[in-house]
Amino acid sequence: MSHALTPPSMHDDELSLLEDADERARAYVASVADRRVFPDAGAIAALAAFDKPLTDYGAPAGETLALLDDIGSPATVASNGPRYFGFVVGAALPVAAAADRLALAWDQCASSHDNSPAAHAIERAAARLVLDALDLPAKAGVGFGTSATACGIVALTAARRTLLARAGWDFDADGLAGAPEIRVVVPETVHVTVKKALRVLGFGMRRVIVAPVDEHGRVDPARLPVLDERTILCLQAGEVNTGEFDPFATLVPRAREAGAWVHVDGAFGLWARASNTSRGLTAGVENADSWTTDGHKWLNTPYDGAMVVVRDPAALSAAMNSDAAYATAAPDAQKNRTLEFSRRARGIPVWAVLRTLGRAGVEELVDRHRAQARRLAAGLRAAGLDVVNRVVLNQVLVRGATDDATRAIRAAALEPGDLWFGPTVWQGRPAFRLSVSSWRTTDADIDAAIRAIAAAVR
Ligand SMILES: *Cc1c(COP(=O)(O)O)cnc(C)c1O
Repeated sequence: MSHALTPPSMHDDELSLLEDADERARAYVASVADRRVFPDAGAIAALAAFDKPLTDYGAPAGETLALLDDIGSPATVASNGPRYFGFVVGAALPVAAAADRLALAWDQCASSHDNSPAAHAIERAAARLVLDALDLPAKAGVGFGTSATACGIVALTAARRTLLARAGWDFDADGLAGAPEIRVVVPETVHVTVKKALRVLGFGMRRVIVAPVDEHGRVDPARLPVLDERTILCLQAGEVNTGEFDPFATLVPRAREAGAWVHVDGAFGLWARASNTSRGLTAGVENADSWTTDGHKWLNTPYDGAMVVVRDPAALSAAMNSDAAYATAAPDAQKNRTLEFSRRARGIPVWAVLRTLGRAGVEELVDRHRAQARRLAAGLRAAGLDVVNRVVLNQVLVRGATDDATRAIRAAALEPGDLWFGPTVWQGRPAFRLSVSSWRTTDADIDAAIRAIAAAVR
């Protein structure tokens, strides 16, 4: 008999299985601050237990869950803990994780009001809170997608479709063959996922125009390529190495004057707008045409949760429309604003965080991480390291005395397993990069990281 077929009479088993999962989840979270941040070789080797073919008759569900926890948990990266400084991943705020747990029990197909009135209303509320928190145009359309990558594909699709419509071209009917060319300008430091989105959409990499950047990685207005009404200008809020911002206040008006579409990749940096002390970094970004940002990075919601925001909601809904005879819905139905048709309500944890933290809470999160990044930078400088960036946000970019020293210091600091941060290359030379973005990170964690890296220098 297959173990997968569980008749309704076995309801008790379902509840005890969920209880078991909750207990295991509780134990994991309770231990997350004390776990190795990157698993040891033994835990990784044990993952071979998952390398099994499909069986004929399956296994008991409880056993499946136990395997997941017993072998899976020890080999996780404690990115949900306080001393993970890689990739701006953030941790999951308790209310976000809890709201997601409940939403999983609801198991809603959150396509539209007809599929789930609750999901539709809550994501609509989430959209409003996002626009409020980010101080973006109140009438903009918001789609909750899986990632900034996917949301970037959505925004760039809406951008191209709109520019082509203005040129009298019906993209939906006639596609790209024979269409007027839409040019794309990206910063020299553009994030790889924006390039990926452009590649997927058929903007060949050789045709994409590169805007030169200054020493901080920001587009240099003096060297901005020519823009016109058939150009999409991609800018960024939060460069992935330095955390710097393109000079929107100068560039966006020029682009709008030329009739270009401005898209802003603000995967983590857009949240600088949530704080009075850092909002100035983003000045003028509100005049762009579209923005993407993540929940799962700085807002500390679980994966995968991101947002696309488009000034003209009709441009978004027309580009993403998936109405059918059996499934018509409002323009703001999430199936008409994202790539997905059947989908989880990714906006629920975003709503939960923003409702719970309020303006002051989000501001405090952003301010704390910025202050901790500066604390980290000061400590590392005192340890003799070269902090390469200005640390305007939550990114600290670091080098040793030589390239070999940079690599060796990172390797030695990571060796004990109680913190993690990633390598990068900045202006052609190796560096390492620490991002402060977990709500769990305390000043004591920052000081511990400084001590560990300082010891590695010695
Ligand atoms: C992480 C990141 C992205 C991609 O976001 P995903 O949600 O991982 O797809 C894009 N741009 C920047 C600047 C990023 O940091």
